[in-house]
Amino acid sequence: MNDCLFCRIISGEIPSKKVYEDERTFAFEDINPQGPTHVLVIPKKHIRGLKEAGGEDSELIGYCHLVAAKIARQRNIEDGYRTVLNVGPKAGQSVFHLHVHVIGGRNLQWPPG
Ligand code: AMP
Ligand code: ZN
Repeated sequence: MNDCLFCRIISGEIPSKKVYEDERTFAFEDINPQGPTHVLVIPKKHIRGLKEAGGEDSELIGYCHLVAAKIARQRNIEDGYRTVLNVGPKAGQSVFHLHVHVIGGRNLQWPPG
């Protein structure tokens, strides 16, 4: 998927501020942070988005959230953070490689806009 921005970030072809990496996931600082912490956790496997994911991806998607929790623990934002999956253009999905936003370090409003 060399036309995919996030696949190119995983391969190192496009630079990013890496936060975490293991065999299955990669995490990096969002280029347009919406809070003191704004990290994106992505599976190394190219999955277009949540609605395109299959049953075979369930463990991987859950694992991305556990990586998000690990990053939040390391950043000391466990008093309040949000994991977000934007699904589809109306929800603001702009990159079509599944990604979990980890946003925290400030008060978060509910409902989100
Ligand atoms: P979404 O709008 O949910 O698809 O999220 C895409 C996110 O990717 C946005 O928050 C962007 O700021 C972020 N983003 C886009 N390009 C880059 C990049 N090159 N490096 C880091 N984050 C990026
Ligand atoms: Zn991709």
